[in-house]
Amino acid sequence: MFMDFKEFHGHICPMSVLGIKMSNYALKLLDVETEKERIIAIPEIRNCMVDGIQWIVGATFGKTNLIFRDIGKYACVFSREKDGRSIRIKIKDDIVERSLEYGRKAQLIRERLSEMDEEEKKWELELLFRNGKKIVDYIEKKSYEDLFDVKEVELILKMEEEPLNVKRCKKCGDITLKEKLIDDQCEDCLEPFYFIRD
Ligand SMILES: [Zn+2]
Ligand SMILES: [Zn+2]
Repeated sequence: MFMDFKEFHGHICPMSVLGIKMSNYALKLLDVETEKERIIAIPEIRNCMVDGIQWIVGATFGKTNLIFRDIGKYACVFSREKDGRSIRIKIKDDIVERSLEYGRKAQLIRERLSEMDEEEKKWELELLFRNGKKIVDYIEKKSYEDLFDVKEVELILKMEEEPLNVKRCKKCGDITLKEKLIDDQCEDCLEPFYFIRD
């Protein structure tokens, strides 16, 4: 399984393995047996963890069962669509710290990569890989209870069907979901995300 996952994510790292484990734990706690049962995943951070979650739960933006809550926490809410039963799984602090240690090392190396010669590059990446492997092995040996805190939660937001009501933004003219327009203007016109180059 890890080999296929490597193709999906690009590498095996502590956070992605935590995402995989957290999802398997969620499926167990929510008594999900068949692949047909739809689970909504609501990760609270944008990092490698989310690929592990997508991989196991089959949650994607396209299937609308992946909802990103950008609040910067090492946790994910898993919700069983048929009855709304939901749990929030959070990575324990010491495990987050260990994974961050690896993440910071990887970042340092990425920043210096352009200054390194081939030999140095190979060596640094090998060291990083070994370090990551050590943490992954450590995570692999731990029980779910050692790795995660779990809470039963009730979602306040209703998970609605894809909204199909659209309207043109009065400023740029783009067809936009009606619910996203404020005073008939799209968010980009209200607060630009990019400049248009001519
Ligand atoms: Zn990763
Ligand atoms: Zn607009």
